[in-house]
Amino acid sequence: MHIQTNHKREQMKIDKILEEQFEELGDNHASSAADTPLREDAFEMSDDKKIEDIQEHVYHIMETLGLDLTDDSLRGTPRRVAKMFVKEIFGGLRPDKKPKASTFENKYKYGEMLVEKNITVYSTCEHHLLPIVGRAHIAYISTGKVVGLSKMNRIVDYYAKRPQVQERMTMQVVQELQKVLNTKDVACVIDAKHLCVNSRGIRDIESSTVTAEFGGKFKEAATKREFLDYIKLDTEF
Ligand SMILES: [Zn+2]
Repeated sequence: MHIQTNHKREQMKIDKILEEQFEELGDNHASSAADTPLREDAFEMSDDKKIEDIQEHVYHIMETLGLDLTDDSLRGTPRRVAKMFVKEIFGGLRPDKKPKASTFENKYKYGEMLVEKNITVYSTCEHHLLPIVGRAHIAYISTGKVVGLSKMNRIVDYYAKRPQVQERMTMQVVQELQKVLNTKDVACVIDAKHLCVNSRGIRDIESSTVTAEFGGKFKEAATKREFLDYIKLDTEF
């Protein structure tokens, strides 16, 4: 009974956030290309029910492969994978997990570029459900608002915890920071290895993929160059 109430409250919280997000979307059609393709009913099912369902599906995949699910080593795998999907690696699908947008005033009137580099990225390729592992580098020019440095890591982590394509993830990080900081002057470069390329298919262990999104002043050559010099990426964009 108690659990039921908690679920209801949680569901209401999610509904409210979703409503706000859809409203926002209505105001800004341009951003829709960067949105993760989610169904409208994505959060009607509770996390516990999702774990139960996914556990069954993983069980069937393993069974189909001919594995003996009564083996001690395999018995716990379907539940473990299901929990990992819902609570960890795809936990960033839930709108209520988005880091809170707290900013504070830039008291020192620092108007130069601020760069946060080498932010660890652990994501999952949505085409193969294999890991994407790499680094994100973020820069912004403050117009009076600043965010805590760890906020940028948290925003990257939130968008990484979804089935992703790297290009979309890069855009989502920039758009979220533009909103939080109330400026277009935000840039993000992500350099990452895709295990679907490195460990299977062509098995190219050396290659990595670089994606970039430059907003506002970062579209200008000198500002872009300054940012790329800070992160020491020689790639030409
Ligand atoms: Zn892939």
